[in-house]
Amino acid sequence: MAAMNELSRTAAAPWAGRGPVFSQPGLARPVAWATPDDLDRLRAGRARGRARPGKPLVPVSVASPRLGDELFARLMSYGTPHETHRGDVLFRPGEADVDLIVVGRGSVEVIRTETADVPAATVAAVDAGGFVGELNLLTGQNVYLLGRVREGGTVYRVPPERLRQLMANDVELSDIVFKALIARRELLQRSTAALAVEIVGTDRSAAALALRTYAARQRLIHLWFDAGTPAGQAMMQSSGLTEDDLPAVVLPGTTLTQATPGGLADKLGLSYRRSSAKPADVTIVGAGPAGLAAAVYGASEGLDTVLLDAVGTGGQAAASSRIENYFGFPFGLSGADLTGLAVLQALKFGAQLASPCQAVKLDTDRNGDLLRLHLQGGEVIDSKAVVIATGARYRALPLERWPDFEGAGIYYAATELEARGCTGSPVTVIGGANSAGQAALYLAGRGSDVSLVVRGPDIATEMSAYLVDRLLAHPRVTVRCRSEVTRLDGGDFLEEVTITDRTADSAQAQPCAGLFCFIGAEPATDWLTGIATGDDGFIRTDVQLTGNDLGPAWDTLGRRPLPFETSIPGVFAVGDVHSGSMKRVAAATGEGASAIASVHKSIATLA
Ligand SMILES: Cc1cc2nc3c(=O)[nH]c(=O)nc-3n(C[C@H](O)[C@H](O)[C@H](O)COP(=O)(O)OP(=O)(O)OC[C@H]3O[C@@H](n4cnc5c(N)ncnc54)[C@H](O)[C@@H]3O)c2cc1C
Repeated sequence: MAAMNELSRTAAAPWAGRGPVFSQPGLARPVAWATPDDLDRLRAGRARGRARPGKPLVPVSVASPRLGDELFARLMSYGTPHETHRGDVLFRPGEADVDLIVVGRGSVEVIRTETADVPAATVAAVDAGGFVGELNLLTGQNVYLLGRVREGGTVYRVPPERLRQLMANDVELSDIVFKALIARRELLQRSTAALAVEIVGTDRSAAALALRTYAARQRLIHLWFDAGTPAGQAMMQSSGLTEDDLPAVVLPGTTLTQATPGGLADKLGLSYRRSSAKPADVTIVGAGPAGLAAAVYGASEGLDTVLLDAVGTGGQAAASSRIENYFGFPFGLSGADLTGLAVLQALKFGAQLASPCQAVKLDTDRNGDLLRLHLQGGEVIDSKAVVIATGARYRALPLERWPDFEGAGIYYAATELEARGCTGSPVTVIGGANSAGQAALYLAGRGSDVSLVVRGPDIATEMSAYLVDRLLAHPRVTVRCRSEVTRLDGGDFLEEVTITDRTADSAQAQPCAGLFCFIGAEPATDWLTGIATGDDGFIRTDVQLTGNDLGPAWDTLGRRPLPFETSIPGVFAVGDVHSGSMKRVAAATGEGASAIASVHKSIATLA
């Protein structure tokens, strides 16, 4: 009955009557999608001002692959056959651990069901020879669409563990299926499917920014509505939301008010949940470049790998609008793209990712051969080895009202998300290292007049020469050395900063729509006890450890710490959190990957 109601509420399929968009002529039509025209119209009409989905990671043309008989038979062999009848529901929003569905005979339609403010709509139709599924099959996200049989026949259900076997064992098939899942996510983000997760909030509110940053980093299918626009107002009205409810998320069957990334992750099934009672081989804490590299190498080398992050995947690197010094990318690439690809790679090899998921304690007394990690929600994870890749946290200035303006005018990153509220308005960047220089150029490139405030006497002391030259030549950048921001003013949002020039001993207030702070960071180690660190709090490993650091456990083991191993056996530290690290993406990924060799050796010495 529920399925019948959903059927009657379904809006006309946008693809109907237009034919396949991504088909090649003369071949069977396994999948038909909403056309780009329809998608653009929908986007323009419904959600002006939403975050751009970004460049597709793979060409969307691979979303509907055409498998020859032999490949299709191989794909079907991973599933179990089920006879279907018109109207059968194959999956519905909210379900976890859904199967990949291979259509042997008949056809299946994929529908975005109605939410508080939009009627249902058909997203795609999959005929015999195609398969139904998108990236959530690998990320573990709950289903947000409805799959229903349009024409009865036979489907082959491939459960998650069989899909993982396919990914690991059949290179040819896994390549085709994996690229299709990624391309479908890109297509869905730009389709009516995005209305399945609608986020509404005030453009410059810190809580809304946290939610949007999480959604963007997880590449969640979603639409953003600015509550200050007519589209946002209309959406709030039809969903029965008031200002007090913001930020809010409207999902099929439910609405989250005063929503947080954690609440959204719980609803979508992206929080930590362990399906196996067995301990993990390795748990990696922190999904920046170092943690992601450890996850890719751990999972690809057969370790049961869990990767957690307190915020979302990508770490500091995801906040970098342009990384120009990463090996092999002479034209630079955005940190979000780099880490987004790494996430896909880790998922492909079968790593389990969960965020937001904060580690709050590590039991350093081994529980038998296992290490026990405690998470903020009270869950525990037992594993044979732990890799700490928690990086460093940004430093702030000890100014009155600083906490009030964090996320509401004060930012620690300069990406599209932070910068769009300031486009064309004057901004201030604090810091003398490369990250500050990059941010200043990025913001100036978006039409802002930028004051770059540097405490030291010379901008060239810490910054790369190529950046210094570009900054000094840029007509919209003013470099103010021997200067400091000493006062902040505004209402709910930052409006003005006072900059004190220490040479002239003069202070000047000036308008400021965004203060971008890049003055270094402190290691994210406050959740750890009993681990050897340097005076600066960064974690020491292997040759940095002295005999005094090594307790009796090492005598029992009869070995010295392995490369990247900390003073606690089986616990490793990589990336920015590691004492003496280079604080660069390439160094972090190198350390993360290398540590896995030590993890293997450490596990081999257990029992
Ligand atoms: C704006 C900016 C621009 C930059 N540009 C460049 C550049 O051009 N080139 C370059 O080489 N480097 C650049 N860097 C530096 C580079 O990003 C870092 O060196 C790199 O990200 C370090 O990687 P990491 O994995 O060690 O740590 P991070 O990237 O800091 O990641 C650590 C992760 O751990 C998570 N975490 C922390 N505590 C916990 C906990 N208790 N439980 C769970 N998770 C936790 C955090 O949420 C975070 O996601 C830039 C940095 C910034 C901020």
